[in-house]
Amino acid sequence: MLRVPGPFRPHHHVTARPDLPHRVGPDATAVVVGGGVAGVSAALVLAERGVRVELLEAAPQLGGRLGTWDRRLSDGSEVIVEHGYHGFFRQYYTLRDLLRRLDPELGFLRDVGGYPIASRPSVGWEPEDFTALPRTPLLNLVALVLRSPSFKLGELRHVNADEALAMLHYDPVRTYAEHDHRSAAELLDSLGFSDRGRAMLFEVFAHSFFNVEQRYSAAEFLAMCHFYFTGNPEGLGMDAPVDDYRTTLWDPFTRLLEKHGATVTTGARAVSLRPDGARGWAVDVEGEPARQARHLVVATDVPATRELVAASPELAAAAPGLARRIAALPSGEPYLVARLYCEGDVDPARAPFTGVTRERVLDSVSLFHRLEGGSARWARERGGSVVELHSYACPPAASRDELVAAMREELTALWPEAADLRVLDAESHRYTNAPGFDPGYHLVRPGVLTDARGLRLAGDWVACEVPSALMERAAVTAVTAANDVLREEGAGPEPMRSIRPRGVLAGRR
Ligand SMILES: Cc1cc2nc3c(=O)[nH]c(=O)nc-3n(C[C@H](O)[C@H](O)[C@H](O)COP(=O)(O)OP(=O)(O)OC[C@H]3O[C@@H](n4cnc5c(N)ncnc54)[C@H](O)[C@@H]3O)c2cc1C
Repeated sequence: MLRVPGPFRPHHHVTARPDLPHRVGPDATAVVVGGGVAGVSAALVLAERGVRVELLEAAPQLGGRLGTWDRRLSDGSEVIVEHGYHGFFRQYYTLRDLLRRLDPELGFLRDVGGYPIASRPSVGWEPEDFTALPRTPLLNLVALVLRSPSFKLGELRHVNADEALAMLHYDPVRTYAEHDHRSAAELLDSLGFSDRGRAMLFEVFAHSFFNVEQRYSAAEFLAMCHFYFTGNPEGLGMDAPVDDYRTTLWDPFTRLLEKHGATVTTGARAVSLRPDGARGWAVDVEGEPARQARHLVVATDVPATRELVAASPELAAAAPGLARRIAALPSGEPYLVARLYCEGDVDPARAPFTGVTRERVLDSVSLFHRLEGGSARWARERGGSVVELHSYACPPAASRDELVAAMREELTALWPEAADLRVLDAESHRYTNAPGFDPGYHLVRPGVLTDARGLRLAGDWVACEVPSALMERAAVTAVTAANDVLREEGAGPEPMRSIRPRGVLAGRR
């Protein structure tokens, strides 16, 4: 395989400090609130370095938006259901370094292969596929333009070059200063791409962040283009766990945390946070004694963080700026996940994950029986299939049942053979816990470090200059929070790598 040229190789964002102690002293304590990717990552790094950590998770299980639960289907079989398909991209360096603690070879992840973007055949657009592009930034762009059915070279004359080059000029400070005031829709309007190019390449992408273009910051959109494409030296390939997230991630992470001396307490809802004088922080927990610790990492999702801070008047008095910024945090669009246990299967040529464009509700289709061990076993025994439908930004007024019915109709319009699937069981949920990235919020979005001493934030909604998003943002902010605790305790930081922080043309006009 061709090596990626030096400037595009992973950037060492935080380097190890062998001159500093690896472990902290015996008195260092921390409470981490929230047991999703961010909370588990922060707790693990702290526990490995000798901090006495308790991880508090409100739900009965770890995982947050990658949580799992048991379900008995109408045929009597017991299955593990999850919150939804997740792609583990290869430039998620921080997350992958944490996952390597479970298996240095990452043997529980496998390449999902092609990742087509499709529209219903009646629209007449061939699917777009991002696999097997060169890994070197810029070459990947040239290859995409040359091979993509969504670009006709003649049409490129109409593209606004200044706007298009903003992706290559990405800079974590200047891009936000210049573009955060307007929406991704305005940016896409001014780019001048054909309707097809816009639908196939950009609209699906914006939805993947649980936002619609009209309410999504253009700066955020450019940051995502840099992270996933124009600055990404790993190609657009993604991996997925070979089995459900409980088996592959959360049970092994719990064992590892406990091995390092951490306490993992599920079913423990933090209800308020209080500065506790020189001792640090107190966390009131529903129906249980309060917890005290020198350091606090809050790794809850946006609605839960707003609620927790609103119920913490002593925190608001100590850090009024932080309380105001948290109260103003925008939410993303509501989203819906429906898992269908079916008799029959779709065409064997369908990809395990397909992005869908220009449907009112449906944004992606995942074939779990071709991805995940438990679903594969269930499907094999019944000659069936496990099909998961996602709507990442669904019409807010419609009910869950209407949305599921609409997604099923849209699936049949996309893949006609899906009309023959007989749904034996279905599990669907509508959620409102995705973060919003509305125009104009960047300056007030809180970062990891806060003006409440000893309190750090982590999660996919937390501002951070390291190129990252979604699960990788959760991991990066968590390790940044843990590093700040280690700094205060006199220990060396956990190293972190990222893709190059700025676009290839940043700094050139
Ligand atoms: C359907 C779907 C598909 C996705 N696909 C992808 C993908 O392909 N790639 C990707 O990178 N990302 C994807 N994501 C996004 C990814 O799931 C999130 O970015 C990531 O899981 C966020 O982790 P987190 O730890 O920040 O938040 P969360 O996972 O939301 O964790 C927060 C935790 O805090 C807990 N909590 C809340 N309140 C309290 C309280 N008061 N006390 C104690 N605990 C509390 C919650 O129960 C939860 O466990 C997807 C998300 C969804 C929903």
